[in-house]
Amino acid sequence: MEMKIGVIKGDGIGPEIVDEAVKVLNKIAEVYGHSFSYTQLLMGGASIDANGVPLTDETLQAAKECGAVLMGSIGGDAKTSPWYKLEPSRRPEAGLLALRKGLNLFANLRPAVLYEELKGACPLKEEIADRGFDMMIMRELTGGLYFGKRSTQEEDGVLTARDELAYNENEIRRIAKRGFDIAMKRRKKVTSVDKANVLDSSRLWRKVVEETAKDYPEVALEHMLVDNCAMQLVKDPAQFDVILTENMFGDILSDEASMVTGSIGMLASASLNETKFGLYEPSGGSAPDIAGKGIANPIATILSAAMMLRYSFDLDREAQAVETAVEKTLRDGYRTADIMSEGKTQVGTKEIGDRICSYIV
Ligand code: NAD
Repeated sequence: MEMKIGVIKGDGIGPEIVDEAVKVLNKIAEVYGHSFSYTQLLMGGASIDANGVPLTDETLQAAKECGAVLMGSIGGDAKTSPWYKLEPSRRPEAGLLALRKGLNLFANLRPAVLYEELKGACPLKEEIADRGFDMMIMRELTGGLYFGKRSTQEEDGVLTARDELAYNENEIRRIAKRGFDIAMKRRKKVTSVDKANVLDSSRLWRKVVEETAKDYPEVALEHMLVDNCAMQLVKDPAQFDVILTENMFGDILSDEASMVTGSIGMLASASLNETKFGLYEPSGGSAPDIAGKGIANPIATILSAAMMLRYSFDLDREAQAVETAVEKTLRDGYRTADIMSEGKTQVGTKEIGDRICSYIV
């Protein structure tokens, strides 16, 4: 298979961690007989330095011409970087928002996996951590409360603020469909999270999700209220496969799920649109405090590349090979500094990338 991949190395540790993910992709190409070509794209601080803006129209167009984009993190130290003396619309993060909008990325996917080898970092009770968990949070990214009308005004002498939470059935249907598609590639269970006992938008959400489910008879669907879901994530996370939810609930629940894994440097993410196209990036930031030291953990970026293979290119076997290689590397005791524990072998960014490649045969 021939694939054109856009690469945004980004700022801070971005170039170091992306280089390792590309190394792993090249190993996959070699072992499985694919041809990957890479288009280097500038976004964030690197684009400000080169072009004066965090994202150019040409870069957005070039990204659209790729099958998928792999990205490191962008941004710098807010206190010391000159990028943060610019007005907000010209700062690095504005480039990311413009890229997501320009590519119509409405579905955000964040896996939360508790690795057997990293169970010690899980903040949950031992008997809960022992059961392990492997879930995918699918969050609607371009609608709901964060994109609704808002206002603050004085009414009868009292300052009053309003934020509108609106969803139409088409917005719900396209994310629901994506959620069921993802479940079909996993353990075939969808937990749709809403607040249908109170909100009209949630009642419509539930209705459309139920309609969509009819096209996926193999997938088990359950509904859960968001307050209950927040509790269940710490009480019994093993019950979840795909959690499908709207923007604000997903924002909060995905951070909660990340925290219970105990290791943010391991967490991948993807943002998808209606086609197979996706933007794949680690959940963490650009870590300017450790940039250039060769100690950053590239695993979240490598696992993001695995998601790209699975969701944009339908290369499930290859994605699984990358995930298995990561697990074997951890099992053999290799750790970067952020996930280091007693009795393990500490290695740098490049060394852990090499170890992971060595397991792809
Ligand atoms: P951060 O995630 O960059 O760093 C928080 C802590 O985690 C730091 O101690 C850092 O060293 C550590 N860390 C993060 N990723 C790591 C990795 N892969 N390996 C080892 N250690 C790692 O968060 P921050 O310091 O709040 O933000 C730094 C910059 O990143 C800011 O400019 C912020 O806006 C940006 N940011 C970008 C994205 C993105 O590109 N999507 C996301 C979050 C933050």
